[in-house]
Amino acid sequence: MKVSELTWDREGLAAAIACEDAAFEAALREEAYRVKVDTIGPEVYLRGLIEISNICVKDCLYCGIRRDISCPRYELSEEEVLSAARTAAGRRFGSVVIQGGERTDAAFIRKITRLLKEIKQIDTGDDPPLGITLSLGEQSREVYEEWFDAGAHRYLLRIEAFNPDLYRKIHPEDHSYDRRLQALYDLKEIGYQAGTGAMIGIPFQTAEDLADDLLFYKQFDAPMVGMGPYNPHPQTPLTLSGAPYPSAERRFALGLKMIALLRLLMPDINIAAATALEVLDPRGREKGLLSGANVFMPNVTPREQLVKYNLYDRKTSLPDGPSALEHGLSDSRIVIGYGRWGDSKHFRQE
Ligand code: SAM
Ligand code: SF4
Repeated sequence: MKVSELTWDREGLAAAIACEDAAFEAALREEAYRVKVDTIGPEVYLRGLIEISNICVKDCLYCGIRRDISCPRYELSEEEVLSAARTAAGRRFGSVVIQGGERTDAAFIRKITRLLKEIKQIDTGDDPPLGITLSLGEQSREVYEEWFDAGAHRYLLRIEAFNPDLYRKIHPEDHSYDRRLQALYDLKEIGYQAGTGAMIGIPFQTAEDLADDLLFYKQFDAPMVGMGPYNPHPQTPLTLSGAPYPSAERRFALGLKMIALLRLLMPDINIAAATALEVLDPRGREKGLLSGANVFMPNVTPREQLVKYNLYDRKTSLPDGPSALEHGLSDSRIVIGYGRWGDSKHFRQE
């Protein structure tokens, strides 16, 4: 298969996804990197990742911090979150992402609202106030509005699997696909940059499913996408079911290929090099950036808590200490956009 022969319909995308020819995959990644630089430039935007809590009311069958799993739980205090955000500001990351398990209790909602307002007050020197992305799952429209008004302007909510049958297989029955989709449209209507994404290489997933994920991002007109390889956690129902999934090597190659295909399909959006890539290859996120991604999220969560945010086994991808950023991004083609919000060109042009 040749990159020039690719077609952008479901059939063509599925064929590209299924093709395991290493030369084709390398050519695709190179082309995607070239298109990224030509369209949005070589810059990589940073978001300091703050993993606020591993307490979750949901029970997704693949996730290592699901409600019914027994594991040590934590929740960062307001001061710990602010301190992590100050670290991000001091290192001129430009933005933070607050991510965590889904919680819908009033105390948690109000805490996030207070934090958003306080983060906006953090001294960033000559840079703009920190940009803020939230990734805290499904909330009511009113809560999304409250957080938007308090200063969040991006929200990441992965659809996880656009195919409703596949979605059903990897979630308990009471997790509604329609509700998830509705939440995404609510976010968009409120004015957020609504990002989405899916796991890559999960059990039961076909090349056609992955092609449909890509076409969904396009149809939803997502200004940003964060997708990454599935990494099994030993105690989840999905792993314990014994359902097969692609090898680590294949999931990594697929993860990079999905980034490359998406960059070619939507040249001016923001695409994150997911942490899940790093678990499969020590230079995984850097390779993601060289395959067309343009967002990198150094982890600024306090280390003693970070180890408990155990979605999957991530021993190999522990924190991004002060020197890890430069260490992790050693390729000379990567230019870091310090002190910038780094909104997608796509969103700015809407
Ligand atoms: N609770 C929020 C949510 O689900 O949207 C945000 C936090 S959740 C931990 C962030 C993402 O982690 C999910 O969207 C899911 O795709 C990913 N994730 C969970 N378990 C995973 C696994 N075993 N392998 C790879 N990614 C996983
Ligand atoms: Fe909770 Fe998110 Fe994990 Fe699902 S993926 S169990 S919502 S933290």
